[in-house]
Amino acid sequence: MRGLMMDEPLTLAAILERASRYFPHIEIVSLRPDGTLSRIEYGALAKRVRRLARALQEAGLARGDRVATLMWNHSAHVETYFAAPLAGGIVHPLNLRLHPDEIAYISGHAEDRFLIVDDVLWPVYERFRDKTRFERVWVVPFSGMRTPPGAESYETLLAHSSEDFEFPEIDENDAAGMCFTSGTTGRSKGVVYSHRSLVLHSMAECMTDCLGISQSDTVLSLAPMFHVNSWGLPYTCPMAGAKLLLPGCGCSAEDLLDVMEEEGVTIACGVPTIWLGVLDALHKNPDGWKFRGPVRVLIGGAAPPQSLIRELDRFGLRVIHAWGMTETSPLATVGRLKESMREWKDDRKYETRSKQGYAVPLIRLRLMRPEGEAPWDDATPGELEVRGPWIAASYYNAPEAANRWSPDGWFRTGDIATIDPEGYVKILDRSKDMIKSGGEWISSVDLENALMAHPAVREAAVIAIPDEKWQERPLAVVVLRDGEHVEPAELEKFLSTRFAKWQIPDGFVFTKEIPRTSVGKFLKSQLREQYRDWHAPSESSKEE
Ligand code: AMP
Repeated sequence: MRGLMMDEPLTLAAILERASRYFPHIEIVSLRPDGTLSRIEYGALAKRVRRLARALQEAGLARGDRVATLMWNHSAHVETYFAAPLAGGIVHPLNLRLHPDEIAYISGHAEDRFLIVDDVLWPVYERFRDKTRFERVWVVPFSGMRTPPGAESYETLLAHSSEDFEFPEIDENDAAGMCFTSGTTGRSKGVVYSHRSLVLHSMAECMTDCLGISQSDTVLSLAPMFHVNSWGLPYTCPMAGAKLLLPGCGCSAEDLLDVMEEEGVTIACGVPTIWLGVLDALHKNPDGWKFRGPVRVLIGGAAPPQSLIRELDRFGLRVIHAWGMTETSPLATVGRLKESMREWKDDRKYETRSKQGYAVPLIRLRLMRPEGEAPWDDATPGELEVRGPWIAASYYNAPEAANRWSPDGWFRTGDIATIDPEGYVKILDRSKDMIKSGGEWISSVDLENALMAHPAVREAAVIAIPDEKWQERPLAVVVLRDGEHVEPAELEKFLSTRFAKWQIPDGFVFTKEIPRTSVGKFLKSQLREQYRDWHAPSESSKEE
C-alpha cells in the first residue's frame, strides 16, 4: 500500500511564503561598502522577489535558464537567490575571486543567459565581459554608484515590474541553484541543487543538534554567497524566521565584532581564517565587546586548530565545527558533543570537538580503502564517501568526472579520514591536489602546469604550507632546465596572466630534484614535511 499523505512539493516558495506570512518584520541587515547598514524585512523582501521573478520572466527567462550573479553578501543577492528559481530558472553565483578567464569559462560552461552584478564589481565584470554572452546585465546600486553607461539598472527593472505575480508550479526535483567547485584535475565542475535538496538541507540546518537555527536567532553569514550558497543560510534563515546579517564585501575583525554586538548576533558562521582574525582582535582588546548572550560560532570549510576552539570559548564564542563540500550543499557532519560525553575531561572534549563530527540526519558516511570498507576504529584511514538527499549525484555536463561516484552511487569526497567508534570523522588529508587558502581553493595542478610551461622550468611541484592566517598557502618547488636561471619575480609575473593574485605561490624554492613515488608521481607528502617551516619569501630564491 502507498502512504496516503499529500505529495506537496518541497520548493523554495514554501520558505519565502512562510517567512513573509509569519515573520514579515524580521530583518535582513546588509553592511554596505561605506560601512552603513541597510535593512529590509522578510515581508518587503518577498514583494521584491515577486517583482524580480516577474521581470525575469518578462525578459525571456524560460524553465531552467541560468541567472548568474556577481555579487557580495547582501539582501539584493538574497532576492536573486529566490527570484531566479521561483521564476522557474536557476541562480548561479559566480565566484568573483577567481581569475577573469576562469569566471568566463564557468559562466560559458553553465550557459548563463543573464547577469546581475554589484556596482562595485563592475570593474571585475569588465575584465571578462568580452568572453561572455549575457543577453541582459543588470547593475545593483550596492554602493549607490550610478549605473555604468550601456548597463541596465536593477532598481529600474524592479520599479517597472509588479509584485502581482504567481510563482509557476515547480517540480521539487527541478534545478534551483548552481555552484561550481574547484576541479581537482581539469576545470571547475558545476553542482546543480534542486528545490527539494535545498529545502531538506535547510530543515537539517535548523535541527537542534545541527545548527539549531530558530526564529529567536540573529545569524551572521560570513561564508560568501558565491561559494556553496553561503552554507545554505540565505534559505535556512527565512525558513526558520531568523534575522540574517550579511557582511557586504567584508570588513575588519573589529568591525565584525562591533556589528555582532550591536545587532545581537547569536550565531556567526565562517571559515577559520576569519575567526583567527577575530581572536587576535579579542586578545588585543579583551573587554572591548559585550555580547547579549552566548554566541555560537559555526566553523567549517577547513579545520579550525584546537587552540582556536579553546580560545574562542574563553571569550564566550562557542565553536561548532562542521564539515561539508560544494557537492554536499554543504552541511554533512557536525562536531557537537553527545550527552554521554558530558562528564568527560575538558581535553578529551576539545579533542572530540576538533574532529569534523558525525553525520547529520539523512546523510550516510563510509570510509573506503582499496580492500573494502575501513572499520570505525579511530585508527584506520580511508577515503570518506557520502550519500544523502542533498548530495550531488553527478556534475553538470562533466562525464569525464563520473569516477567521483562509486559504482554503487556514493560520492567520493577525496578527503582521507578516520572515524571513531562514536562515529566522529577526523579528516587527515586530502587525496585531491588542492590548497585551501582562507576558505578558497587554489589548484596545485593548475599552478604546476602553468609553471612547467615557462621555458626555464623543467619541473614544478606546488604544495600547501601551513599558514597562521590563511591556514594554507602555496609554495612552488621548482627544478630549472640545465643552464637556466630565473628570478621568482619573473615566475610570479608569468603566472599572473592566468591566476588571481592571491592564488600565486608565496615563494619559489629552486631545487635539483623533486622526490617521486614508485609510480613516478611527485611525493608531495615528503615535500610538505621538508618545507613545513618554510617562511620568509627572501629565502625562496636560494639554491639548495
Ligand atoms: P568546498 O567544496 O570548496 O566547500 O570544499 C570542500 C572541502 O573543504 C572538503 O572536501 C574538505 O577538504 C575541506 N573542508 C571543508 N570543511 C572542512 C573541515 N571542517 N575540516 C577540514 N576540511 C574541511
